[in-house]
Amino acid sequence: MEERSVIIVGGGPAGLMASIYAARAGLSPLLIERGALGGKVRFTERLENFPGFSQGVEGQKLITEMESQARRFGVQFVSADIVMVQTADGCLEVLGNGLGIRAETLIVATGTGPRPLGVPGEDRLRGKGVSYCALSDASLFCHREVAVVGGGDSAVKEALFLSRYADRVYIIHRRDALRAAQVLQREAMNNPKITFVWDSVVTEVLGKDWVEGVKVRNLKTAAEDFLEVSGLVVFIGNQPNSGLVGQLVELDPHGFIVTNEEMRTSHPHIWAAGDVRRKRLRDAVTAVADGALAATVAHGFVRRR
Ligand code: NAP
Repeated sequence: MEERSVIIVGGGPAGLMASIYAARAGLSPLLIERGALGGKVRFTERLENFPGFSQGVEGQKLITEMESQARRFGVQFVSADIVMVQTADGCLEVLGNGLGIRAETLIVATGTGPRPLGVPGEDRLRGKGVSYCALSDASLFCHREVAVVGGGDSAVKEALFLSRYADRVYIIHRRDALRAAQVLQREAMNNPKITFVWDSVVTEVLGKDWVEGVKVRNLKTAAEDFLEVSGLVVFIGNQPNSGLVGQLVELDPHGFIVTNEEMRTSHPHIWAAGDVRRKRLRDAVTAVADGALAATVAHGFVRRR
């Protein structure tokens, strides 16, 4: 079985940054990603708060640059779906489709996936008007009416993006105040194409072969309403992709990996970085910081061994 000092699973900003630090430390890291590199940043039209870009930077461009940077330092990339990680003889075995590698250390940077609403019709109409990524699906809603669920940064940012395509965007939020950053709130409130549906939740998605509308319940009055829309875009937060090491490391009650300040998990050979770990602020800036720290501390561990 091939042996490595460090394997990084997940090619978003946390994983890419970890790979750059590990490569510069001489660890010859292998970065394993099952899909396209970039994680959620790949689908972020523009990051306005990433340092060094006074006019913002396109998510896709940032990831392309990070990948080039990683390749320049000799990071190796493999496309594979890791199905199991197990402890074996004081090391780890990382197993995937046609892949088996022994590793001294593993950095888990697998991020999060969208949390579904869990209402009738949502699963059946997924990809048929129900979406979890406005950037990919916005063109489907050209000159249509569409509903966005959520009140955080993602929901508001994506609603603003959708408003360039759709005729009307409803933001359905379960409270009467948004969680999103003030700057996004202001922009959304001033956007004539955006209508807020406060104190409300979606209870069902309706449509035969495509979304034709959603049932909405007002939580304060219990009134039920039908909103005729051709799309439902759900941004109610994310759930961690931590299943891979769920049996090996401590998770918090929501499934996020618990780490200390050095990104160490409860398993001596496993580190976690980025959105998959329990933390206060999940974004690209904190992800790259996590990745750098995880690789630095993992390097110290390998050197001592
Ligand atoms: P989030 O901040 O957790 O917001 C989730 C939203 O969904 C909240 O408004 C929440 O309502 C609502 N919600 C949760 N469960 C719900 C349910 N079952 N039914 C209806 N509504 C529900 O998630 P996010 O917006 O995806 O952001 C995740 C992280 O990424 C945050 O730290 C955010 O700041 C960051 N982010 C940053 C940017 C940026 O441009 N800097 C962009 C996107 C995301 P309540 O408010 O009532 O809890």
